[in-house]
Amino acid sequence: SPGIFWFRRDLRLADNPALDRACASHEKLLLVYIDDDRKQPYDARRAWLARSLQSLAADIGERGGTLHVLAGNPDSLLPRLAAASGAEAVHVSAMQEPDADARDARLAAMLARDNVALRRAGGRLLTDPDLVRTRDDAPYRVFTPFFKAARPAWRHRSRVAPGRFRCLELPASLAGALSPIAAPQPGWDRGFWQAWTPGETGARRRLDTFTERLDAYPAERDVPAIDGTSRLSPHLHFGEISVGRALDAARAHGGNGADKFIAELGWREFAYYVLHHWPDSVEENHNRRFDGLAWRHDPAALDAWQRGRTGVPLVDAGMRQLWHEGWMHNRVRMVVASWLTKHMGHHWRDGAAWFMRTLVDADIANNALGWQWVAGTGVDAAPYFRIFNPVTQSRRFDPRGLYLRRWLPELALLDDVAIHAPWEAGHVPRGYPPRPMVDLAAGRAAALARLKSVSG
Ligand code: FAD
Repeated sequence: SPGIFWFRRDLRLADNPALDRACASHEKLLLVYIDDDRKQPYDARRAWLARSLQSLAADIGERGGTLHVLAGNPDSLLPRLAAASGAEAVHVSAMQEPDADARDARLAAMLARDNVALRRAGGRLLTDPDLVRTRDDAPYRVFTPFFKAARPAWRHRSRVAPGRFRCLELPASLAGALSPIAAPQPGWDRGFWQAWTPGETGARRRLDTFTERLDAYPAERDVPAIDGTSRLSPHLHFGEISVGRALDAARAHGGNGADKFIAELGWREFAYYVLHHWPDSVEENHNRRFDGLAWRHDPAALDAWQRGRTGVPLVDAGMRQLWHEGWMHNRVRMVVASWLTKHMGHHWRDGAAWFMRTLVDADIANNALGWQWVAGTGVDAAPYFRIFNPVTQSRRFDPRGLYLRRWLPELALLDDVAIHAPWEAGHVPRGYPPRPMVDLAAGRAAALARLKSVSG
């Protein structure tokens, strides 16, 4: 009898264990994506999703099949789909996020009443979060021992050829639910597509080009003006490429670059691991000692940070890259997050929420881990007294101001010294804030005093 394959965050055909299993179990498959998100219209991930689904539909079309994009609640749509098509199972890849996993459990119970199985397979992670534990049988809170314990079990053989499938047509009674995803606000995402090609082919090309440059990764990964990192994050987020395939490619290449890159994949594993064991860490300080901290909330200041008008060039360049490309270099993410949570004294949740709306790779696990790490409130956090100096960072990682000039054209004519701190040179071009919204030294001292008051 037929089966249903429900694509979620595994928008690929190759190396997709859940899809392989579905292909092996059924003569015919009904392929669906269910859009149940009622998000803000300017969510960057929706812009990505719209294109990624077009790409997936085209790949499926080339194999003679059809992807049906439906709008509605899976709780009601899936039982209807199963009943109308006669499917005996719904196949999915596990999302590895506590809320989504809990929903799957509810859905499985519901479908079981109609004798339909919900069959989940892995593929999103290399590590089973329940299997990696300390000697005292507790979850790890520190990255390095976690990585040492988890990595030996990472084995992967990418299946390059997708499983074979034959498709079922959508039952006529469900035709009313068909609804392609519209891209958000016209125009806002235009800059994205100069930087990105959503979909499985775009993801594979990105991995291939990056693998050729892997030896340079350790030296170049911190330089925001260089395309020195893989830029696989949105592709991994949407599952357009499997993490196992990225691991295999790095291992096949070998060397220091591969080790460094595999460690970054390890951070992604760790972020999902932390989310699994401490689901509250998306919203709450992991380290509850920081609950006593008084955060500022100044909407005008937050707006200036979001728009890249803080008067600190590296911070502003990062925020503008984010708006324009839906992505920001990791080094700069750390700097803008430190500026918001330390110098400006805003809660990390304010920054995390903006990132969730504007990043094409926004991922609750990685985002929460990143923000709490910088704010000093998380597991394995940077010590609270580490406060990035955005001018020092700028001089060190963008010495010739290439990244700054790219994103802040109003500063382009300043020399390589002045561009990092235009107010020091006394000639700030018109149209750029005359000085940083928070004095660097005073902001640092105030942040230290606040943080010290709650950290024992
Ligand atoms: P590469 O250097 O090529 O790394 C390869 C892959 O490893 C990445 O694609 C990513 O999946 C993973 N990775 C790398 N660094 C980290 C990290 N520190 N934590 C977890 N995974 C990592 N990453 C997201 O994918 N989504 C987010 O929403 C996100 N929010 C962040 C917020 C803050 C404040 C900070 C400091 C970091 C955040 N990161 C997030 C992590 C990191 O900045 C991005 O994963 C990275 O910049 C993506 O670029 P890349 O693919 O070229 O990275």
